[in-house]
Amino acid sequence: MRSSLTLVALALAVGGALLPQRLLAGDPAESLVPVDYQRQQTVGRLNLFVPTKPALEYKLRNDLVARLTSIRDNLFKHHGLGNDCSRIGQTGGLYRQTSRDSIDILVFPDKAALASWEATVGSALIDHHLTAYSRTIPLCLEDGNIPNEAWVKFCHELAHLYYSLTVFPGQPRWLNEGFALFAAYNDPHIHPMDCASYMDMLKRLKSRASSHEAKPVGDLLELSDADFGEEACDQSWVLVDFLMREAPAVLDEIVGAMRALDMAAWDDYEGIAHDMRTTAATLLLHAFGGRAKMQAAWDEHLDVLDADPDKRAKSRAHLNTTSALPPLCGIKAQLIRNKLLNGTRLPDCHLTGEVEYDGPRSALVNTSLKVGDGRGRWSQEFWVQQDGTLASGGHAKLHEYDVPTDPGDCVAVFTVEVKLQDGGTYHFEKTLPFR
Ligand SMILES: [Zn+2]
Repeated sequence: MRSSLTLVALALAVGGALLPQRLLAGDPAESLVPVDYQRQQTVGRLNLFVPTKPALEYKLRNDLVARLTSIRDNLFKHHGLGNDCSRIGQTGGLYRQTSRDSIDILVFPDKAALASWEATVGSALIDHHLTAYSRTIPLCLEDGNIPNEAWVKFCHELAHLYYSLTVFPGQPRWLNEGFALFAAYNDPHIHPMDCASYMDMLKRLKSRASSHEAKPVGDLLELSDADFGEEACDQSWVLVDFLMREAPAVLDEIVGAMRALDMAAWDDYEGIAHDMRTTAATLLLHAFGGRAKMQAAWDEHLDVLDADPDKRAKSRAHLNTTSALPPLCGIKAQLIRNKLLNGTRLPDCHLTGEVEYDGPRSALVNTSLKVGDGRGRWSQEFWVQQDGTLASGGHAKLHEYDVPTDPGDCVAVFTVEVKLQDGGTYHFEKTLPFR
């Protein structure tokens, strides 16, 4: 069992920077709001904080709220991110303590005020990933307005935050970065052609392609966070932009698979991150029909972007519709009351059944059982299958037990623990009524 502090520590290791010590102890979001700020409004789970002295103009405050609402609504459209925002942690497991706090947005009247806040909280926080983990995002006015580039950066950070609440931070980095960049440049109020950052990104991509220095796009899928640089971010954007426009079903499927892993995740953050990377890569390469075809589709999309960075004609790529990965584990079992003996019903049930394993690599599988009345009274858990090393498609029989039961017991809960070879540990539960 690990606490949410471990999650913060992991995020730090990934970001490669250090948070001020106090952020590891208390509620980080709370501590980052300057004292002379007040909450102006709440937009869904977004808290808008503004300075009290001098107060922002009424019209500007209203415009900010309208813009935040629009950004939030736009994010919600992607994979139902908003609806899923509070899901993690509800089912127990590794991420049950992932914070579901609101997100604080701090509006600074000018760059000097922002710089002074940055100095107070520590400059490492300004790296957008760490800012995202602390659930606080700054927005800075310039001459009384928020410039386009600041909105782009804001949308990017907010997308990271929503995404980390939906799909655990162990998700593949290409998906995380690509999606955040897509969300930022696809905001209806942003005209990407007017953004220097967008045009710079296109220029970099084009110059790498024409000088034949670009790395193969397939390499992205296996990159660890430490090796994820600017080129990888740029490539991720092209890849996600392509998928969002031309094969959203494939992207949905990958996100669905990440969610399924996240829901069952039980132990080993690194192992689970590895499983998420390899699962996403398998699905994506299958959709494209291999690395070479993926590279060709990516190159073509880059050409389309280069020729028409604004309108974005469709490419001719055709992707396979993939079928969702099978669940890692299933269980088939029966509990049958033992027969009457000399007119007296015996207080136990006979257990038969088996566990089916269908994961990507071989795994160590253990299964436990508890019985109860379905109203909160449970027996102790006991093993009904142990130390089965199963290859994909393998089965393990449950011990043929006579399970002791109390009067009124009518529900059995099986927990299958799967430790994937070179991967994370997952728990799957199955509830079975019996009479
Ligand atoms: Zn990012």
